[in-house]
Amino acid sequence: MIILDYIVNLSILSLMVSTPLIIRSFINHKSLKQLRLWAGVYAGIVSSVLVSLSIQDQGYSYDIRYSVILLVFAYLGTVPGLITGSFALVSRLLVSENWPPAIVGWIVIMIVFLLVNKLTLNLKPVRKCLILMGSYIVAYIITVPIIFNVFRESPVFHLQYLLFVAIGVLLGGLIIESYEKLYRIITEKKKMEKTLEASEAKYRLIAENTSDLIMVMDKANGIRYFSPSHEMALGFTIEELESVDLCELIHPNDVNTFRLSIKKIMEHKESLSMEFRFLHKDGKWIEFESKCMPVTGGEGLLEYIVIISRDISERKKAEEILLQSEKLSIVGELAAGVAHEIRNPLTTIKGFVQLYKKENSSIEFNDLLLSELDRIETITSEMLSLGKPQAIQLNHTNLRELIENTVELLSPQANMKDIQFIRSYDDANFFITCEKNQIKQVFLNLMKNAMEAMPKGGDIKISIRNGMAGDCIIAIQDQGCGIPEELIPRLGEPFYTLKEKGTGLGLMICHKIIKQHQGTITYHSKLNEGTLIEINLPLATEKIL
Ligand code: ADP
Ligand code: MG
Repeated sequence: MIILDYIVNLSILSLMVSTPLIIRSFINHKSLKQLRLWAGVYAGIVSSVLVSLSIQDQGYSYDIRYSVILLVFAYLGTVPGLITGSFALVSRLLVSENWPPAIVGWIVIMIVFLLVNKLTLNLKPVRKCLILMGSYIVAYIITVPIIFNVFRESPVFHLQYLLFVAIGVLLGGLIIESYEKLYRIITEKKKMEKTLEASEAKYRLIAENTSDLIMVMDKANGIRYFSPSHEMALGFTIEELESVDLCELIHPNDVNTFRLSIKKIMEHKESLSMEFRFLHKDGKWIEFESKCMPVTGGEGLLEYIVIISRDISERKKAEEILLQSEKLSIVGELAAGVAHEIRNPLTTIKGFVQLYKKENSSIEFNDLLLSELDRIETITSEMLSLGKPQAIQLNHTNLRELIENTVELLSPQANMKDIQFIRSYDDANFFITCEKNQIKQVFLNLMKNAMEAMPKGGDIKISIRNGMAGDCIIAIQDQGCGIPEELIPRLGEPFYTLKEKGTGLGLMICHKIIKQHQGTITYHSKLNEGTLIEINLPLATEKIL
């Protein structure tokens, strides 16, 4: 029967030790040490329960409450140990009458436990348990059979009791150790998950907020990842991109280069740069420069290729424009040189015609000849002055003259295209303070745009009128193709052009110049009817020169 009682005691002990540990695994993973006082109280209750289940043997009753006290001393420390011990003592005194050995035994064992705990502060709980158990056995033998003369002649009784307590300690210790180990594994896993999550979040933040396109290709040439920037740059959703073969989105002329580059990377495991055109959802091709980097796995085998691409269409355009402007400046220089060369013989011809006129005043086409020569002269000097780089100099300038000169410069081209310039001025003169060549450039750009918008010819009306508060308004009205309303706000943006050979810089320069002169440009346009451009400029208040 005694064994059965003992098994019941042990089962209750293990159940009560494991219950809080299981609950703790569900609620939190705080270390046992943070709850040590409450754990001491709980262990006290456990020891009281064990006291109430005491085993009756040979007229004596005993229990395994000291297993619990010993475990608390070893795992939670001195104060919780004393709390548990106090609970155990009180319940022992309540249950049974033989008080003196219980009280003296308790005091001796508590002193021994306190001393052992002090001396084994830095030891692990398992070792502490062993030492505490050893000292408990010694203290028990001295007090119970020796001092209080309990069953001194029956060592088997004491051996059996001590064995029961030791098995209680062993079982409790095993349960606590295995749960602690489990907690450590769980908390470490959680910690690792958190660190992993944090580093993943960091990389996701970079990948998802960069304007560069990041792609990850696996060794079977399938795309594993498209950064969200693809949606912005290409117009396709990530799902759409995932559902098509990547090569279908690459320009047919570039597909081979792309494939070859990928093959090279796979073979040599070296990073490579390439340029290719990617299809935008609206059908246009965008130029990209890509850096492809191989990612090798543990055994040095290629696992992925990371492809980082950047839109270089603006750069390409700028390079092209630079080339074009370089060409233009050479042509401009040549033109200026030619104009210079023309002017010299022109002066001679003009002189001779004037001389000839004096002598043969009757021939009527002399005047016509002279006026045409005048025209050639103005055009060549305009070309010369435009071609020469000039220092910025603010002058008191007559707008009317400026417009007339510009029209003169463009008239050969206008004649060819069957375009007439119709001028009307509200006043004889409109003086502004300006850098003459810059304002002339504005008129040239605007009139050229108007002419380019009228391939079938027509009229370009140019007028100057007085505006409000000392301003004048220069209006240029054409009968060209017009500008769609939604595109008007984009006029003046660098590189914005609808022309095949346009630079998209003309209006940008105009805006800059007019702004520098404290003026404004406004556009009114109707598709297929024409465009009206109005420039507002402050009139000069006094003459500078
Ligand atoms: P570019 O002439 O090189 O294209 P601009 O900056 O001069 O560059 O003009 C930008 C765009 O504005 C042109 O491509 C054209 O589409 C539009 N545009 C400008 N002026 C006119 C106009 N008078 N009529 C119609 N479209 C115009
Ligand atoms: Mg232009």
